[in-house]
Amino acid sequence: MIARIIVDVSAKQTDRQFDYLVPPEYEPLATPGMRVVVSFGPRKVQGFILSIGQDSSISNDKLKALDSLTDLVPPLTTELIELSVWLKNHAVSNHISVLKSMLPSAMRANYRKHLILNDDVDCSESDREFLLKQFQDKPLLDWDDWYKHATTFEHKEMSRAINDGFVRVEPVVATGETTKTERHVRLIRDPKTSEEAFLTLAKRTKKQAEIVQWLSEQETDHYPLKQLSVSSSVIKGLEEKGWVEKTDVVIGRDPYEGREFKQTTNMELMAEQQEVFERILPAIEEERSEIFLLRGVTGSGKTEIYLQTIEKVLKKRKEAIMLVPEISLTPQMVTRFKERFGSRVAVLHSALSKGEKYDEWQRIRKGEVDVAVGARSAVFAPFQNIGMIIIDEEHEGSYKQEEEPRYHARDVAIKRAELYHCPVILGSATPSLESYARAVKGVYTLLEMERRVNDVAMPDVTIVDMKDELRHGNRSMFSDALIERMRNRIEKQEQIVLFLNRRGYSTFIMCRDCGYVAECPHCDISLTYHQPINQLQCHYCGYHHTVPHQCPECTSDAIRYFGTGTQKVEEELQEVIPEARVIRMDVDTTGRKGSHERLLSAFGNHEADILLGTQMIAKGLDFPDITLVGVLAADAMLHLPDFRASERTFQLLTQVSGRAGRHLKAGEVIIQSYTPEHYSIQDVTKHDFTGFFQKEMLMRKQAGYPPYYFLVLIHVSDEALDAAVLATEKIANYLKNNLSDQAKIYGPVASSIARIKDRYRYQCMVKYKIEPNLTETLRNLYQLFDGELNKGGLQVTVDTSPNMML
Ligand code: ADP
Ligand code: ZN
Ligand code: ZN
Repeated sequence: MIARIIVDVSAKQTDRQFDYLVPPEYEPLATPGMRVVVSFGPRKVQGFILSIGQDSSISNDKLKALDSLTDLVPPLTTELIELSVWLKNHAVSNHISVLKSMLPSAMRANYRKHLILNDDVDCSESDREFLLKQFQDKPLLDWDDWYKHATTFEHKEMSRAINDGFVRVEPVVATGETTKTERHVRLIRDPKTSEEAFLTLAKRTKKQAEIVQWLSEQETDHYPLKQLSVSSSVIKGLEEKGWVEKTDVVIGRDPYEGREFKQTTNMELMAEQQEVFERILPAIEEERSEIFLLRGVTGSGKTEIYLQTIEKVLKKRKEAIMLVPEISLTPQMVTRFKERFGSRVAVLHSALSKGEKYDEWQRIRKGEVDVAVGARSAVFAPFQNIGMIIIDEEHEGSYKQEEEPRYHARDVAIKRAELYHCPVILGSATPSLESYARAVKGVYTLLEMERRVNDVAMPDVTIVDMKDELRHGNRSMFSDALIERMRNRIEKQEQIVLFLNRRGYSTFIMCRDCGYVAECPHCDISLTYHQPINQLQCHYCGYHHTVPHQCPECTSDAIRYFGTGTQKVEEELQEVIPEARVIRMDVDTTGRKGSHERLLSAFGNHEADILLGTQMIAKGLDFPDITLVGVLAADAMLHLPDFRASERTFQLLTQVSGRAGRHLKAGEVIIQSYTPEHYSIQDVTKHDFTGFFQKEMLMRKQAGYPPYYFLVLIHVSDEALDAAVLATEKIANYLKNNLSDQAKIYGPVASSIARIKDRYRYQCMVKYKIEPNLTETLRNLYQLFDGELNKGGLQVTVDTSPNMML
């Protein structure tokens, strides 16, 4: 038997399948999708079995045998293997990176695993005997230890027991994080068969008898100790008398354990919702891979549609994947899904520990759940009968992975939906230009909802020109209008969200006399000032330095802070409106696990009047008493070197505005800006997505950007400037010679941050409409230049769906 294996060595020359012999004892187990350990050159490396066969082009006596199986049940399904082949080409990536990114992080680098006896298995007498002999009274076995001491016959028997589900296999992460045990009490004498003894017990200690009675009525014979509300002396007494024993049981960690979710049922849909719902249903019923673009204004009830369509999918005994951006994966969001579908939901969230994520992933792999809610990587949820994939806030930049494999979750979702013949819903109040253009062309089915649920009015949006404020002599960061409105809301005991756009905007220090700005010595970027630790930090390489008291250039002491951080806003707010109670949410206040949730629920309980924060409060908040949203520095990111800058500005302002007046009370939004005339700001006040779309499409057409052209960005970096330039030149020439005449190649040019971590960064870009040879040319580029290019420290990356011109 031959296994074709992708090895975990990230060089382009090794990015292909290698044949290995499967030793006889592994033959019953070896399956595509399993991880293995193999010898590769002088090293032992991990690999993935892609397929199993009988023949190899290399004669068997020259083939090496694989060393061992890392998994006993393949973590990757055959569909995911197929998907990986497509994705490595689509994203011009190493195959191994694609395979690894499909697994939860806990499984990416572990070699040890436990065998665990499953409860309540219905196996034959001889199987039971075999298993009892192997496990004796241990709850788990270490696979490597066991394997070393077991016979070939036992290897085979154990393989069978695993395949039959009598035993399960759980990897052990180095920290021992993936398996968790819990102290249980097990009843070892039955009160019915030992009636006499039981009566004696009941006479002497009533409490102990009650516990025995109660345990005997439970469905399982063991019960979590911490859930028995009795003193430890009662249990101890029972233990001594031989009624019960304590035992450690391996359990899955449910991160929402102990939380009660009340069941909610479907809401009666509004007219627009109903129309949209009825357009989607046929695709579910007829198993069509139709792609819907659902544009619905904030608060139009998109989530309710997701919930109800998912319900239809579950009725068909299929599974659903729901992707949301990491920052929208709030407790509020998760609760809505848990309340509707209960324990049938797995949540894949970066705030979970590695082990918790692994447990949730396993529940999907084992078919214990049928809904997966999660951020980008949940698009790889290992379901086997997918009935629908939903991407909420489909315009979000975080759906694109910025490291290898550089994929966009939307493309992967659409590919999987093709394989499973199921619909995809792309939802947003502000769809990406690419998706909306496709919907307008009829490639996607366009569904639109212009009204909020219950016809709640869209908030009233006012723009304040901050240049005017300055002219009036208002030097504060709050306009007169905003201060007046904030006072008014606090008086009425309503709530306020203050949003500070941090992207492209940070606090830096500058010398007022000579203009010196503190910059990172390793990166071409200014250092950011962090007040709590009174330090200057580089956000790219982590370099930090204490704040100088004197200008290093001219020795003047006129060193000042510029820019606006949330702390500074909070301070100034306290000066202007001392009675305001403020909750600040930013990286400094939400670092610890659970703090995000705590701060939000405090705000929900009216423990503060103002929620002040950055990007992380732009989405998903749904509190009835928020009637005012203030946006400071609306244009902060309009000037970033990114062709999506206007689009991102419009999207963000619309999202933030959508937090106001979602329920009974009317909402108002004040946007402060230095460029109030810009259409990306103007169109927000009119809630005019299509107006914005048309203007922005015109700009993109003129500049030759997506959706009119596709882009590929090739990025080169090296410690030596000339090496980076030379290599980029070579690449640009190669592309010119190998792509068609209609493809335009730009560069080499220095990247907009020309140096990070002491590496010089150059890039070239391809713009094209149709380029059939693109994937092949880009892959060849790697193959051709690998020996030459990746020598020394030179690094080359290819991005086929670049987010931003870094
Ligand atoms: P979106 O996702 O479009 O921003 P949501 O789905 O969050 O909108 O809905 C906004 C609010 O309206 C939520 O509080 C939700 O519970 C409520 N809602 C949604 N659909 C209905 C309905 N058909 N009837 C009553 N309330 C609804
Ligand atoms: Zn100076
Ligand atoms: Zn730096």
